[in-house]
Amino acid sequence: MRLLTVLLTFLFIACGTSKDGDFTMFSVEEDLALGQELAQSISSDPANYPLLDRAESPSSYALLDRILKHILSSKNILHRDEMAWELHIIDNDSIQNAFCTPGGFIYVYTGLMKFVESEDELAGIIAHEVAHGDLRHSTDQLTKQYGIQVLIALLTDSDTRLLADIGASLVQLTYSRSDESEADRYAVRYLKDTPYNPTAFADFFQRMQEKDGDLGMFQFLSTHPDPGNRVEKIKEEVLAN
Ligand SMILES: [Zn+2]
Repeated sequence: MRLLTVLLTFLFIACGTSKDGDFTMFSVEEDLALGQELAQSISSDPANYPLLDRAESPSSYALLDRILKHILSSKNILHRDEMAWELHIIDNDSIQNAFCTPGGFIYVYTGLMKFVESEDELAGIIAHEVAHGDLRHSTDQLTKQYGIQVLIALLTDSDTRLLADIGASLVQLTYSRSDESEADRYAVRYLKDTPYNPTAFADFFQRMQEKDGDLGMFQFLSTHPDPGNRVEKIKEEVLAN
């Protein structure tokens, strides 16, 4: 009976198509439910994810909240009211990375916040992470990695051990190059609707790529791989209508 329920659920949700036209296995509500479970698992794993407390770091959170508010005001956001859009800072200066769970829970490492040279650059990164959540890339990657049945089972019958494993691996979740291209493109579209300079997003990648060199020291570039001519393509999108 349980198997039948899972199969019927699978058939039902497999017919869904997201607003951006992508074929998708999950509904947006399920994205949010999965994101909430993962956010809970992250907040109970301080060894992997030492979260900065909002009350103790008000200025850092105020900066990120301001940026996120501007980005979410963009006309290009598809799921403004259906996702959580919650920001968290992870206190680890040695990691220059950021990630977004399904359902819009965004995590930014202090190492990345210290690497950026302006609020405009930080806005570029937040916009890119919002794109991964809003375009539901995070769900696609988790589905590829763990299988749809496993994720559905998590929603119906929470397995805390598996949730903890998936939560711990989120920082290493690597997007496809086509998802990266799309996230870069949408990030620029959002930024154009804000007071931020979208060219700073290209500057950020240029500087990170130059400093990364052969050492591959920046985790952001390994989980958000260059889809090819990244800096040029971002600049072209800035100039596009
Ligand atoms: Zn990315």
